[in-house]
Amino acid sequence: MFKKILVANRGEIALRIQRACRELGIRAVMVYSEADREAKYVKLAEEAVCIGPAPSPASYLNMPAIISAAEVTDAEAIHPGYGFLSENADFAERVEKSGFQFIGPTPESIRIMGDKVSAKQAMIKAGVPCVPGSEGELPDNPVEVRRMAKAVGYPVIIKAAGGGGGRGMRVVHTEAALINAVQMTKAEAGAAFGNPAVYMEKFLQNPRHIEIQVLADKHKNAVYLWERDCSMQRRHQKVIEEAPAPGITRKLVEKIGDRCVAACKRIGYRGAGTFEFLYENGEFYFIEMNTRVQVEHPVTELITGIDIVKTQITVAAGEKLPFKQGDIQLRGHAIECRVNAEDPYTFVPSPGRITLWHAPGGPGVRVDSHVYNNYFVPPNYDSMIGKIIVHGDTREQALARMRGALAETVVEGINTNIPLHRELMVDARFMEGGTNIHYLEEWLAHHKR
Ligand code: ADP
Repeated sequence: MFKKILVANRGEIALRIQRACRELGIRAVMVYSEADREAKYVKLAEEAVCIGPAPSPASYLNMPAIISAAEVTDAEAIHPGYGFLSENADFAERVEKSGFQFIGPTPESIRIMGDKVSAKQAMIKAGVPCVPGSEGELPDNPVEVRRMAKAVGYPVIIKAAGGGGGRGMRVVHTEAALINAVQMTKAEAGAAFGNPAVYMEKFLQNPRHIEIQVLADKHKNAVYLWERDCSMQRRHQKVIEEAPAPGITRKLVEKIGDRCVAACKRIGYRGAGTFEFLYENGEFYFIEMNTRVQVEHPVTELITGIDIVKTQITVAAGEKLPFKQGDIQLRGHAIECRVNAEDPYTFVPSPGRITLWHAPGGPGVRVDSHVYNNYFVPPNYDSMIGKIIVHGDTREQALARMRGALAETVVEGINTNIPLHRELMVDARFMEGGTNIHYLEEWLAHHKR
C-alpha cells in the first residue's frame, strides 16, 4: 500500500480523500491555493503545500506546480478528486511519466471516454445501449446529414464530440433548421473545445438521468454498485441525487449493470467510473462516461456499505477488488442534497464569510463538508460548500430524515439553497419519485418569487 498520497483538489472532496487516507494509514499531502490557506483540511494535514494564487489556472489546474509538490514531499500517488484535472488525460500521463501513480484509469481510457464519439463507439462494441443516432462524427455532405436525421427521426440533438458541462448541444425540430444548426454547433465546438467534430442523436423528450457506478481493479475484475437517479437538475447541474432509482426494477438494473461491467473489462478500465444514461419508457440509453469519483458517490456508499474512495486507492496500489458482484448488497435508500452558496431561487452565487454554521446529525445522517464557523467561502471556485446525505430503510424514511436534517441545518452570513431543498422534500411529485430531467426547472418556473 502507498505510504503517502498527494490530494490534487480542494473543498469537501479534498477532505473526503484525506479521511480515506487516514483510515488506510496513508499520509495525505494537501495542496492549496492562496485562497484556501485557512481550509480545515489544510490545517489538519500532516503536510500541505501552497501551489499558487487563487485563480484555478494558476493553482488547481497548474500541472507543473502539482507535480513538483508531489516530488518535494515524496508522495507516491496523486488523487485528482473530481473537476479540475481529474479527467485530463494529459495530466494523468504527466503524473505517470513523472513516476507517480495516478489514482484513476489509464490516460488511454480517459482519452477514449473524453471524446464522446469514441466513447459511444466503444460502448456500441461492448453491447451497451446508446441513444440512436449517427454512429460517428457527422460528415460534411449536407445531403448525407439530412438523410441521417430523417432516419433517426426529429427532434434530433447535435452534440460536440469534445463537449462537457452541458455545453455544445443544439436541439433541432425540423429539416429546415438542420444544416444551420450543425454548422453553428461545429463552429462553437471548435472555439470552445478545440475540436469541431459533432455527432447526432435522437432527442429524448422526457427522460430521467440514471447512472451506474462501477469499480474495477488492475486484474480484470469489475463490479457495478447499482444505480443513482440524478434527474433533479438545473441547467444540467445535479441538485439532488438518490439511490436506488424509484420505480426501476432490479432486473433491469442488473441487465444494464452487467453490460457496464463487460464494457469495463473490454476497455481495460480501472478505478471508479460512472456510466451515465438517459432512461425513458423502460429503456437505458448511454450518453457518457465519467472517469473519476463523482460528487454524488456517497449515496452509493450508503446503500452498499462500500467505501468508493478507499477502493479507488487500494486498486490504484494494485490490490484486487475485495468483493465480487454477488457480495454487493443493496440496503435501504439514500438521498443527497448539494448545499450551494447561492441564492435559492435566482442562483446568484453568494460567497463570503459564514458567521454561523450548524451541521445536522442523528441516525442515518452524513455531512460531507469542509465548512466551519467563520469560514470564508472564496469567490473563485464552484459554489458547492457541502453535501447532506441521509440513509433510511425505505425512501419514505430517507425523506423524513432529510427533512429533519435540513430543519436542523443553520448557515448564516451567506445565502444557501437550503430553503429550496426544504421545499422540494415536501413536494408531492418529488415525494412520489421518478421525476424526469425537466421537472426541477418546470417547478422553478411555476414557483417564481
Ligand atoms: P455533458 O458532458 O455536457 O454533461 P451529456 O452528453 O452528459 O453532456 O448531456 C448533458 C445533458 O443534456 C443530459 O443530462 C440531458 O439533459 C441532455 N441530453 C443530452 N443528450 C440528449 C438526448 N439525446 N436527448 C435528450 N436530452 C439529451
